[in-house]
Amino acid sequence: MSFFFLDEYEDMEAYIPGEQPKDRQYIKLNANESSFPPSPKVLEAVNQSQINGMGHYSDPHCMELRAAIGEVYGFGADQVFVGNGADEVLGFCMMSFFREGMKVCFPDITYDFYRTYAKTYHLDYEQIPLKDDLSIDVEDYINTDKDVILANPNNPTGKDISVADIERIVKKDPKRMVIIDEAYVDYGNESCVPLVRKYPNLVVIQTFSKSRNMAGARIGYAISSKEIIEDMNKIKFTFNPFNMSSLAITAGTAAVKDTEYLKKCVTTTIETRKYFEKEVENLGFFVFPTTTNFAFIKHPTLDAGKITKELKDRGILVRHYQNERISAYLRVTIGSREEMQQVIKELKDIVESALCVC
Ligand SMILES: *Cc1c(COP(=O)(O)O)cnc(C)c1O
Repeated sequence: MSFFFLDEYEDMEAYIPGEQPKDRQYIKLNANESSFPPSPKVLEAVNQSQINGMGHYSDPHCMELRAAIGEVYGFGADQVFVGNGADEVLGFCMMSFFREGMKVCFPDITYDFYRTYAKTYHLDYEQIPLKDDLSIDVEDYINTDKDVILANPNNPTGKDISVADIERIVKKDPKRMVIIDEAYVDYGNESCVPLVRKYPNLVVIQTFSKSRNMAGARIGYAISSKEIIEDMNKIKFTFNPFNMSSLAITAGTAAVKDTEYLKKCVTTTIETRKYFEKEVENLGFFVFPTTTNFAFIKHPTLDAGKITKELKDRGILVRHYQNERISAYLRVTIGSREEMQQVIKELKDIVESALCVC
């Protein structure tokens, strides 16, 4: 640490992303990325003139992209904020509306970034334990005076909350901000975006990183009331006005308009997930039901950490969590059919050689 680093950042906690080792080629199923390419419309849109245009600054208002996203969800551009991934959108949200000591709550088992931000911004945060079945107790979030952050469906469990329950949380107190992170909503879940029309204290965040197969492009967005979006833009213009590159704006606009392609990819991913879940069940795994692009599974006897390591030795990366409440589980992103066949082959081998008494 340098002489200049601020004391108040000393106990910040960095988010630890899924590893990206370069020592060999891996089947990478540890960060819920997609194995599909983005919509072919993206390649058409990001053409030579776009590349030549890089000499100029991008539109700081990102109007084209905000309007295109808004159109898909039935809102004007003034109700859409865009940023470098959902993570940055969440960051701007924190910067705009949360100051030291403010109260916020989220589950004990959820996307780790919420705690990272809560520490960075010195919030008074509470991590509310999930129930034993790894679902949230909705009453916990209704009967609290704290602002709320929930991933729906949750990561890494894949467990969802009904929109009716979210509405109960949101409408309890209009002075409480409720942030719903819908990173996985496209995989067969109902979105709470329509509630934005009724409740100006609701912020819904989504991303292009999962269902739109564009994690590397870094595009995320928030849909909320005009006032909230205006505030976030005000903060953005004090920090990084050109937060989105011209390439990301163009690529994102082309991608979000191609709703057919989104549907096709999502359908295939769900089919592949069901196939994978059935196969691992046959190998003796317990499958936690999810509606996402990942499977959450555990073996009754084999150690999940060991399986993770064995898979890595065989060129497959999956995610394993140290938190003891979920340390028996593996989170396996659903890749292509061929990738999942390979995972099943290796898992079968690992299970059979571990259980063999020879
Ligand atoms: C993957 C994920 C994100 C990150 O989205 P980016 O747009 O890549 O920053 C946010 N929230 C949850 C719950 C996620 O799983």
